[in-house]
Amino acid sequence: MNQRLDPHSLTVNGGRLWQSLMDLAQIGATPKGGVKRIALTELDRQGRDQFVAWCEASGLTVTVDAIGNIFARRPGTDPAAAPVMSGSHIDTQPSGGKYDGCYGVLAALEVCRTLNDYGIATRAPIEVAVWTNEEGSRFTPVMTGSGVFAGRYTVAHARAQKDVDGITLGQALDAIGYAGSAPPGKPVAAYFEAHIEQGPVLENANKVIGVVTGGLGQRWFDMTVTGMEAHAGPTPMHLRRDALQGATLIMQAIDAIGRTQADTRGTVGYVKVEPNSRNVIPGKVSFSADLRAADAATLDGMERRFRDTVATVCAERKLDYTIEPTVNFPPTPFAPECMNAVREAALRLGYTHMELVSGAGHDAIHVADLCPAAMIFVPCKDGISHNEIEDAKPEDLTAGCNVLLHAMLERAGVV
Ligand SMILES: [Zn+2]
Repeated sequence: MNQRLDPHSLTVNGGRLWQSLMDLAQIGATPKGGVKRIALTELDRQGRDQFVAWCEASGLTVTVDAIGNIFARRPGTDPAAAPVMSGSHIDTQPSGGKYDGCYGVLAALEVCRTLNDYGIATRAPIEVAVWTNEEGSRFTPVMTGSGVFAGRYTVAHARAQKDVDGITLGQALDAIGYAGSAPPGKPVAAYFEAHIEQGPVLENANKVIGVVTGGLGQRWFDMTVTGMEAHAGPTPMHLRRDALQGATLIMQAIDAIGRTQADTRGTVGYVKVEPNSRNVIPGKVSFSADLRAADAATLDGMERRFRDTVATVCAERKLDYTIEPTVNFPPTPFAPECMNAVREAALRLGYTHMELVSGAGHDAIHVADLCPAAMIFVPCKDGISHNEIEDAKPEDLTAGCNVLLHAMLERAGVV
């Protein structure tokens, strides 16, 4: 309600955002400059407490739901309006970086701090979200908190998941005092998530802002190819049933299937050869296949080509095989109105930008089940994340936060 200020000229305090990132990174800091703050540990509690203290210092109202998701609300002028929400996660991988997740949370907090600085009122409330156990390194599945919020899993199912020591997620949540009373899930007007890209596309294209069009659908399979173990010397080539040679043809096909379009992926990340002995023709190969694409029809075509290749190769080489589907995440296109808000903010602020898809999972992909959602990517050095050397430029982080501010204002309405 500052008469002199045009909301379109508003910019965040990039130095404050950077300082908060560095301060949060002190909790669980590793000697190599990374962060180890695994979900629902004592360090996670300290990180959450720090976030809550910052929110309360900014006058935000903090609530915690039954799965430990934290929401910090800046009220709007319309008490009936659902919030415009933004957030991410503050748990890390065992050797994680300073920016993955924390950037999205602290960028959303910086939006609230900036609105406070300038006395800007919004029609809809603004909420900052911290989602529980996004990384999935201690408890499966990944993105637990947002998945429960979106109704993909029940609280009871999530609480029953155990870590390697047999401690359940529920016990760990209770122990750090973050099992709240609010039932997960509520109306949300729009959701935005700012995140480092975790890939090399923006840096390669020399762009600052990624307008994320959606999350790739994923289909994972566990495969076995079985032939006959035999001595490498006495067995002529034409009489062999070599499981590894058949498997390598299938693996090459998976890579080729992944290369058919810009946004398709095909990966074999796990291989086990039996008996894995130098002078024995391999009798059995177990391996994974991971196919990703932006739409279901493309994924269907990729899966068909993959299955046809397996059948043809195994028939030609007299091999047996099994294909077991293990993961099936449908593609998640983001909402055009939210993508437009991001694109228009980038244009107005004069940032270079491009559209890209998210190849990795993010909380926004779950929240998109409930409400219109979109993501903002900023570059990270060499596309590296889930690594202590993860790095990002302060000016790029500020740019992404400015885009977030304006996209949220567009959806929330300035009064
Ligand atoms: Zn993340």
